[in-house]
Amino acid sequence: MPELPDVETVARSLRRWIIGRRITGVRLLTPSTIRTPPPREFARHLTGRRVVGIGRRGKYLLIRLRPSGTLITHLRMTGDFRMARRLTPLHPHTRVVIQFGRRELRFVDQRRFGHMDVVETEEDFGPLQRLGLEPLGRAFTLSRWRELLAGRRGTVKGLLLRQDLIAGIGNIYADEILWQARIHPARPSHRLRPDEIRRLHGTIRRVLQRAVAQLSKYGHPVGRFLDARGEDNAQCPGCGRPLSAARIAGRTTYFCPHCQR
Ligand SMILES: [Zn+2]
Repeated sequence: MPELPDVETVARSLRRWIIGRRITGVRLLTPSTIRTPPPREFARHLTGRRVVGIGRRGKYLLIRLRPSGTLITHLRMTGDFRMARRLTPLHPHTRVVIQFGRRELRFVDQRRFGHMDVVETEEDFGPLQRLGLEPLGRAFTLSRWRELLAGRRGTVKGLLLRQDLIAGIGNIYADEILWQARIHPARPSHRLRPDEIRRLHGTIRRVLQRAVAQLSKYGHPVGRFLDARGEDNAQCPGCGRPLSAARIAGRTTYFCPHCQR
């Protein structure tokens, strides 16, 4: 399931592929992928516009257009973009095709939870405005992180998943971050000690930055815990003891009860 590093990697690929190109047509194979405006208007809004920028906010991918507008995509569980020549046969799970002359950008999504919106201005799109801090952005300082944690009840795992506080972290990277920071996922956020708050702040940035670098280089993340997580009889890559799985913050959470306190 795509999280910040995956979406960031898609954004970087799109930058190479479609910046400066003009949209010549749109084909909607699964119109329900489109949320706003209605599918017929959606295609009309995009056609003729030129891609001038690719951005990311949390897990949202932003394709910015000239003279105006942004195509906003959320990949959800299985969404992905692929670049193809027009004559290349379509993948059976292709939902939307955005044409750039003889090449096309195809949105492939097996589970169909991904969705797209075209908006005139990003400021008018509520879901973007409700997102919290970008963990790789400059505003994510230790003091902002401290403020964010202050007085928060609930588990630290739950806090990492709250998109309105810190945007882009999902279940898998939350577990990776907490394992690397050696913090138990069920700890109440307001009980973290100052040294743990600092460690967690640094770990969030390091884990996400490294994942972005590895995804661009190898096409998949490389992490000892990421690999172990979810395997049968998974062992902690740190101490070799069995990992525990528990439902924390409503999500299946893997952790090492020995290394994470
Ligand atoms: Zn361990």
